[in-house]
Amino acid sequence: MAAKILIVEDEPAVLEMISFVLEQAGFETERAANSEEARRQLSSSPPDLILMDWMLPGMSGIELTRVLKSDPVTSDIPIIVLTARGEEDDKVRGLGSGAEDYVLKPFSPRELIARIKVILRRITPHVFEEVVEADGLHLDPSSRRAHVNGKEVDLGPTEFRLLHFFLTHRDKVYSRSKLLDKVWGTNVFIEERTVDVHIRRLRKALEPHNADGMVQTVRGAGYRFSERLRA
Ligand code: CA
Repeated sequence: MAAKILIVEDEPAVLEMISFVLEQAGFETERAANSEEARRQLSSSPPDLILMDWMLPGMSGIELTRVLKSDPVTSDIPIIVLTARGEEDDKVRGLGSGAEDYVLKPFSPRELIARIKVILRRITPHVFEEVVEADGLHLDPSSRRAHVNGKEVDLGPTEFRLLHFFLTHRDKVYSRSKLLDKVWGTNVFIEERTVDVHIRRLRKALEPHNADGMVQTVRGAGYRFSERLRA
């Protein structure tokens, strides 16, 4: 499972240790030493999950979590907050900020990997599914990669989930709220315009491959995926 994890941690030794542990476990990692760097990384390539240190110089990890969770573009990226043992308030604040989970430092590598896997299984179950195909477009959930006629499509995690849903539910119109239920999950509160944001990103990613026409807007109803009407 080549899920990508962004580690936000200001202590170089801890950052080094965590990324070593994650890479040993088969994850792809990206690193940021502070909130600013993290935001830059997020805008260039969104990860599948963020490990967020609570104590960061400048904007704290909790503040950054709050900011990311209130932005429709990043709100669905799961966040695990890392907090120091004994700081009981931090735990509460970690979850109050919208983070999916927290892990107390110091933690064992095995514990950290287990917690990451639990969240990825819940949020990105597609990583355990089969390759799907439509008119030259191939999507491989296990490697989290998509290709059109052999050329890789550059997709963020949400666009990937959206495209996977469309490929497995073709020629049917889905409303924004239905897509939220199916792709984001029923127990998350996200505004419907978030769907439009990600549909736009998905089309933009497919455009260089001349495949964006497969994602169609059905006025007043929602969206539909169809290979037959490919432009
Ligand atoms: Ca720190």
